[in-house]
Amino acid sequence: MPNFANKPVIGIISLTCCEGCQFAILDLGKRLLEIFEHFDLGEFGLVEDLRERPFYDIAVVEGSPITKENIKRLKEMRKKSKFLIALGTCAHIGCVQGIKNYVDKDKKIRYVYPNIKDIDNPKIVPISEYVKVDYVIPGCPINNQEFAKVLLDIKDNQLTSISDRPVCYECPLVQSGCLLQKGIICLGPVTLAGCQAICTKNGQQCLGCRGPVSEPNLDSLQRKIETFASREQFYHAMQVFGVQEMLINQSAKIKKSKKNNL
Ligand code: SF4
Ligand code: SF4
Ligand code: SF4
Repeated sequence: MPNFANKPVIGIISLTCCEGCQFAILDLGKRLLEIFEHFDLGEFGLVEDLRERPFYDIAVVEGSPITKENIKRLKEMRKKSKFLIALGTCAHIGCVQGIKNYVDKDKKIRYVYPNIKDIDNPKIVPISEYVKVDYVIPGCPINNQEFAKVLLDIKDNQLTSISDRPVCYECPLVQSGCLLQKGIICLGPVTLAGCQAICTKNGQQCLGCRGPVSEPNLDSLQRKIETFASREQFYHAMQVFGVQEMLINQSAKIKKSKKNNL
């Protein structure tokens, strides 16, 4: 992590998304004002139309790089920032707009726009496909307590990484039974915890919005799920937040490195 100025300049920007992660930041209320006392707020479009700065210590980027303007803005932000944070699943993985990666997107777009001549319809990718990302605050939306901790860590020049435990670790603390054991597809075993298992606590399956743990055992989860559901249903669950590719790639990498170490 770079050494920051006494009062680091921070810019929070949005690409294409619902801006829900910025709203989660606003939900910090009074605590946010206390945290921002330690920073020089350069940009935060949702709150105030501040003048763009020529330099940022920290750039916080929410959303997906979908349009040419988005991509240009993202690259410019990277160029003038010391440290770049991907904020939320859109920036980190692709999120729900990534569903179109798994269908014939050029055919589907015609249902919405009769004239598609000037409409960009790119594949949805994480911002890391375009720029170097120094840190990820995962989730759809983010956990705003994690955001607060990251900024306070930066203020103290001691950034810690988010704990690499699966949702299954937090799940028993908040709910009575396991959905997977009841025959419901749940991606909790391969998904990064930190959301206090909010979905399973409310009887909903985990669909992996916080992204994979560092060593997901996808084969084991797939074997379990295929005892009661089809592979297609399993893949469909992984497509909701766009984690399918990331999970498969990460799992393959782990298997390869384990094989090489034998
Ligand atoms: S990660 Fe979710 S809440 Fe955050 S901007 Fe994207 S869609 Fe909205
Ligand atoms: S419900 Fe899902 S997250 Fe919770 S313990 Fe079962 S598999 Fe894990
Ligand atoms: S339980 Fe899963 S889908 Fe729900 S918020 Fe947590 S990581 Fe995201």
